[in-house]
Amino acid sequence: MLAAIGIGVVLAGPPVAALNIWLSGLVERQAREELTLSGRRHMVLSEARIARAIQTLDDLAARGIDSCRVSNVDALRQATFATTPVKELSIVAADGRTLCTDVGNQLEQRKVVSSEPLAAGSRALLEVIRLGSQPEQWLRIRRPGAGSGNGVAALIPSALFVPQVSTAGGPLSFHARMFTAGGTLIAERGDAAQGAGRGDHGDLVIADLESSRYALKAAISASHFELAANQADFRALGTVASGLLAILILVTSVLLPRRAPNNPIAEIERALKAGEFVPYFQPIVDIRSGRLRGAEVLIRWRKSDGTIVAPASFIPLAESSGLIIEMTRTLMRRVCLEAGAVLGSRPHLKVGFNLTARHFANEEIVDDVRSIFKKSALRLSQIVLEVTERQPIENLTETRRVVAALQGLGVKVAIDDVGTGHSGLSYMLKLGVDIIKIDKMFIDSLGTDRNSNTIIETLIDLAQNMRMDVIAEGVESFEQVLHLRDLGIRAAQGFVFSPPLPCSAFLQLVETIDPHKSGGDLSAEGPAAAIAAIARSDAA
Ligand code: C2E
Ligand code: CA
Ligand code: CA
Repeated sequence: MLAAIGIGVVLAGPPVAALNIWLSGLVERQAREELTLSGRRHMVLSEARIARAIQTLDDLAARGIDSCRVSNVDALRQATFATTPVKELSIVAADGRTLCTDVGNQLEQRKVVSSEPLAAGSRALLEVIRLGSQPEQWLRIRRPGAGSGNGVAALIPSALFVPQVSTAGGPLSFHARMFTAGGTLIAERGDAAQGAGRGDHGDLVIADLESSRYALKAAISASHFELAANQADFRALGTVASGLLAILILVTSVLLPRRAPNNPIAEIERALKAGEFVPYFQPIVDIRSGRLRGAEVLIRWRKSDGTIVAPASFIPLAESSGLIIEMTRTLMRRVCLEAGAVLGSRPHLKVGFNLTARHFANEEIVDDVRSIFKKSALRLSQIVLEVTERQPIENLTETRRVVAALQGLGVKVAIDDVGTGHSGLSYMLKLGVDIIKIDKMFIDSLGTDRNSNTIIETLIDLAQNMRMDVIAEGVESFEQVLHLRDLGIRAAQGFVFSPPLPCSAFLQLVETIDPHKSGGDLSAEGPAAAIAAIARSDAA
């Protein structure tokens, strides 16, 4: 008996040890992949911010802005407002001294911590500086003037050069640092104890990246322990399990490696194939007539156990991995299938889909939209495609071309999250869109913050001049509805009317308040009642 147990232990030992080594390798690889992905995503964002600043500096230089004349300071101020990541623009002497900024001549001492070429062969400089005695660092992009003349420079907060949240949208679980190519630390985020500070390097998973455009490099690290925490139970089980169990786990793991819950990209791929991504619909209401204008499609991940996952947990990863393209196609097809008949028979109702910067990198989306809606009862004239201002636009010319091609199909294009973005509204408006969606941030401070009112009024003026429609987002109270109506806004969406609804509930709402026969049920309950209340308040 004892001998049998002994043999069993000896036999079970190697598979268990192998399982542990294999698991460590897998955890390590996946953790590294995730870190690199996160770093790469952030490097792209950082590069886009610098490119944006350079573009503004080039524009200013081309306009001959090189002294502290009042008109030049005005021009600096306007350009600062229009260039979102830039907090200050200044005129700088050839020796690097700041002569004046967009707010005038009141200058505290600026200490240049480091100064190096922005890119190989470039005259522009990438500098790390401190203002007065403040500990925070800023990144200064400096474009020297011709000869010994004055140049222009842009200050960007250094915190924008490290990720603020993890790829999955949650708190940052790693230590991220951005350096100049020469090795000066620009910014740092996350707990150093999770990264370089703890123990020897054997404990760490490290990803190093270099920018291919500018003199920037990033180092991202996390302790192996932190990243592997999810696997701890699994491993403990492996260690105490019998040889048989170990072999069973090994075989299952080998057969189903892509199902491993610790590979989130593979998990999204699997869920896509399994049809777990479903459309929810948030109604958009005409706040003057109380009629339904349509809906925005918001994706949800409905897992096999019934849990509903919000997009913030998977969209960033879908974007960085490229899976977002297939995900959007799947979502569009599903909307056609499930809501095509009801919405198609009401051609005045519009359906909005969210796209990302990646969709505008080439014309694939144009073919996708054409082929998906060609066979559907939903008409192309009912489709709205939203492009967010939150993400920087990499290639304005190409994006503009794709927008025009989409409009050529008969679909409408909207700018989402207006007012929050990296690119600045004036830049986004060069895309020639049909609709702007004002972000909840401004709606929240309506009535309490004079600036918000002014911004909304300016946006409405602008929209009218450019013949664009305006939609207010995140409207939560009836007072806000009345306020927006006074400001001249026609369309709104938000919890005051309805949260995003599953397809069946949304279609029921459509049938209730927008029936084929005239009338509409104004005695309805829930979202229908909230929407009907707007209609009644108008009649009153
Ligand atoms: P978004 O496009 O700005 O969508 C509006 C978000 O605000 C939605 O969150 C919606 O549920 C929420 N919301 C609407 N009304 C209110 C309100 O009155 N109060 C508050 N507090 N929130 C309100 P959700 O559904 O979690 O979506 C978050 C973001 O995920 C979306 O922001 C969008 O950027 C992205 N997203 C959703 N679906 C897709 C998709 O199919 N593709 C892509 N690329 N992104 C998507
Ligand atoms: Ca949206
Ligand atoms: Ca939005």
